[in-house]
Order: sequence, then structure tokens, then C-alpha cells
Amino acid sequence: MKCTKCGGRAVIDLKRHNSGFCKEHFFEYFENQVRKAIDEFSMFGLRDRILVAVSGGKDSLVLWDVLMRFGYQADGLYIDLGIGEYSSASSQKVRDFVLARQANLRHVSLEQDYGYGVPEAARRLRRAACSPCGLSKRYIFNREALEGSYDVLATGHNLDDEAAVLFGNVLRWNTGYLGRQYPVLEEDPGGLVRKVKPLIRLTERETAAYAVLQGVDYIVEECPKAIGARTTLYKQLLNDLEIQSPGSKQQFLYGFYERGHDSFEASRDVALTPCTECGQPTTREGLCAFCQVRSRLLTVRA
Ligand code: AMP
Ligand code: ZN
Ligand code: ZN
Repeated sequence: MKCTKCGGRAVIDLKRHNSGFCKEHFFEYFENQVRKAIDEFSMFGLRDRILVAVSGGKDSLVLWDVLMRFGYQADGLYIDLGIGEYSSASSQKVRDFVLARQANLRHVSLEQDYGYGVPEAARRLRRAACSPCGLSKRYIFNREALEGSYDVLATGHNLDDEAAVLFGNVLRWNTGYLGRQYPVLEEDPGGLVRKVKPLIRLTERETAAYAVLQGVDYIVEECPKAIGARTTLYKQLLNDLEIQSPGSKQQFLYGFYERGHDSFEASRDVALTPCTECGQPTTREGLCAFCQVRSRLLTVRA
């Protein structure tokens, strides 16, 4: 296959765009897609301080790499979730990245800083690991961004992630979640930092290719706790659809952003009050969901 731009040898074919690119033009395409997402949703500017949540996986490390390449002020935030070998390996990938690029990293350990790890919390609360994991990440993202006075928090969610989550939300008509699913969530004066997802125009396959070609070393293994998760099933379904009908995934997601999302936005409006324990914003009276889980972990026997 030949590069659509220069006729040279293509290193990747992109059926959804009916094109193929050589290495140089793939980088150009990829970076243009990130720029387009940032501009289209006015995510941030060069003066903003960005905190990039990095897991050690391809998407978030590529995002951090690209933002620094563009000249943005981007620091990283890594949360060690205490998931054995997976956490130590992903933490090492992040550290290697930081050393090679002399980047700034905020490092939080769930076990050392908050007294529990994800597997232990899941076992003691009798919940699936993704529940305390998601809750802890959301809480720490916000808290670290506020404490470091960042203007915005960026995550590496890509087109596949967002389409799969949208599929799940539509399947169950989760109108509240649909109202909150957007590439930008504005800051709430009640204490929620602005959140953005600059990789929504790129697929997992594209971020993996960019990482490999650009020499970004990342942890290939998926989180062992996420195996069998529903989102993984939805991703497979959408990938099967994409093979039969290239472009379906992006039509589904972008169509929602353009014509669906606004209809659900009203379901988002909820008042926030400070948690009586930690002061972080919550929709509940008294303890926030995070402090409630922590207090339950203190009372439930190991
Ligand atoms: P996931 O929920 O694992 O699909 O990850 C979605 C995004 O959340 C990633 O692209 C990262 O930006 C962020 N993220 C996930 N895990 C971590 C972590 N352990 N530390 C910091 N950020 C994370
Ligand atoms: Zn080319
Ligand atoms: Zn709290």
C-alpha cells in the first residue's frame, strides 16, 4: 500500500479515512487529529497548566508526549493502585518516560497515601475491582489537579474507549451518564477541575502505532482486573461492526457529540457541597463517596 500523501511506502492503512500513510505523514495525520480535538472543543491554550493522568499504557503516555511536543505545559500524574505486578510494571514505564524527557510527575500511591490497594478494597467491600478503582482515580485526579493549581486535567481516553462507553450508556439509557459524556467537562466552582480528552479522534490501533513508531515505551498488558469487563465486550462488538462497515465507530461517537449530547445535558445539573471529611466536592450530604468507602474499609474486617 502507498501513502495517500506522498506515494511512498505506507506503514499503516486507515480504512475509516480511506487512506494510508508513511511514517512521516502518519505522524502529521495523528498530530493534526489531536490539534483538531483541542481546537474544536477549546480544550486549553499554551498558557494553561495541564495535568495529564498517565497509567503507563499507550494512550496516556502518547498524549503526554504529543502535548509536550506541541509546547504545552504538561505535567503527569500517576496513581499506583496497588495491583501487584501490573502496578509495579506500569509505574516503571512512567518513570522511564519521565527520566527520558525530564518531565514533571506527581506520584500518588493508594496504599501509602490512603491506606488501601484496589484488590484489597474490592475484596473487603465485596465489589468488582473496577468500582473502588474508578472511584479512587476520579477522586485523586480532581484532588491532585486542585492542589497543584492546574487549569485542566487530561486523560488518554480514545475513540474506542468513548464509543464503547457510549454504547453501554445507550444500551441502558443512562441519561445522567450521557449528559456527562463529552470531550470537555467544564470546571465547577464547587470544586471540580476542568477535564478534557484530547485523543477522542484516534483509535487504539492508531495510538499503539504512534507509540511504537515514536519510541514511546508502554505497558502492553491490560489491567488484569479489567479482563471480562463489559466495556471490553462492547469494544469487540464495535470492532466487528467497523470491519463490515468502516467509519461506523466514529459516526456513532461524533454524531452523539454533535446531535445527541445536548439533549441529555440537563440531567447533569446537581449542586455540590464540600465533603465533611476531606473538603472535596460531593453531591451528597456529609461524606463524599470516596471518604465513605474509606470509612467502610476501616470498619469492615480484613
Ligand atoms: P482506563 O480507565 O484504565 O481506561 O484509563 C483511562 C484514562 O485514565 C487513561 O488514559 C489515563 O489518562 C487515566 N488513568 C488510568 N489509570 C491511571 C493511573 N493508574 N494513574 C493515572 N491515570 C490513570
Ligand atoms: Zn507520505
Ligand atoms: Zn471526602
